[in-house]
Amino acid sequence: MPENNSAINRRSSVGVRIGSVMLGGGAPVVVQSMTNTDTVDEVATTEQVAQLARAGSELVRITVNSMEAAKAVAGIRARLDDMGCHVPLVGDFHFNGHKLLTSYPDCAKALAKFRINPGNVGHGKKRDEQFATLIETACKYDKPVRIGVNWGSLDPEMLARIMDENAASSDPQDAKYVMREALITSALESAAKAEEIGLNRNKIVLSCKVSGVQDLIMVYRELAARCDYALHLGLTEAGMGSKGIVASTAALAVLLQEGIGDTIRISLTPEPGGSRSREVIVAQEILQTMGLRAFVPLVAACPGCGRTTSTYFQELAESIQAYVRDEMVVWREQYDGVENMSLAVMGCVVNGPGESKHANIGISLPGSGENPVAPVFVDGQKTVTLKGDNIANEFRAIVDRYVSE
Ligand code: SF4
Repeated sequence: MPENNSAINRRSSVGVRIGSVMLGGGAPVVVQSMTNTDTVDEVATTEQVAQLARAGSELVRITVNSMEAAKAVAGIRARLDDMGCHVPLVGDFHFNGHKLLTSYPDCAKALAKFRINPGNVGHGKKRDEQFATLIETACKYDKPVRIGVNWGSLDPEMLARIMDENAASSDPQDAKYVMREALITSALESAAKAEEIGLNRNKIVLSCKVSGVQDLIMVYRELAARCDYALHLGLTEAGMGSKGIVASTAALAVLLQEGIGDTIRISLTPEPGGSRSREVIVAQEILQTMGLRAFVPLVAACPGCGRTTSTYFQELAESIQAYVRDEMVVWREQYDGVENMSLAVMGCVVNGPGESKHANIGISLPGSGENPVAPVFVDGQKTVTLKGDNIANEFRAIVDRYVSE
């Protein structure tokens, strides 16, 4: 699968280097995520950052909300480096970021980027001073900044001003329009202020997050048209399970198809006992199924129907997808382009052989019966027919052989 799908013309944006990762400026869309551990707990946070990085998160954001958390950041960075995990860390600051960053220079140095929310920097004169301190600190340590506006925490003074300015507009009753305009204005004015203070354009990333799909699409279309800063996309408070995944995918797919977005985060509420890495996998799958990037070989599988009297083929499809995802940690170090490989696990002969021939490796199960007989296709050619109760292991061995050859 190509890095850049020719059907998508990426919006041109100013490139921003975040540690070892390039964001915007034509670079592939970056996957990022955020921890939910207490940053003060260095061991737990280090472990979760490493887990997210192993899953494929290219940037990981951590909350920095107290002096203790700021103190822990350099230790987390050192622990990660000792483990050989060099994923860039982004610090998330609200309310007291100016104090934390100036009190703990080691925290500022250990972070690859600061995320600040103009709605939570302070109010009145203090707001300007505290915002200036944050930006001056970023300049001092040569760090990029994401100016991340969120409609759950819009600056009330900004909102009041935009409401006044739009009171005489053609559609003054449209509260959502005013809200969207306030979000965009907050991001753009904050970016302009940051530049005045001395932050280079190639150190600025913008985001304007809302929780409604149509609002997010409208906000980002407008924001993208009004600037060339690199953009971070994400639907905030997307929710749990399939609702969060569907809402995020619906919104982000429309924008990505229009070439908008340089990095994405899928904000999923983890299900009890669920893995935080789920949001990374969903982000990768959005980009990969749209043809924007390739991370892990994807398994095509049929939905099954009345012809499949057992769940054998669903189990095989799931186990093969999990297997290639786990093995990718090693494969990507050893073999170039393995992420582009395609696999198919099909339930019966109706579509099985045809779909299997389109994949690099495909297997067509017999639908039903106690003694399964499953032809395997490699690069369109039938190579072997697997039989008996060891089909899953034998199919995995064929995948391994194909990758290594
Ligand atoms: Fe049903 Fe066979 Fe089609 Fe799968 S390939 S959905 S089992 S008809």
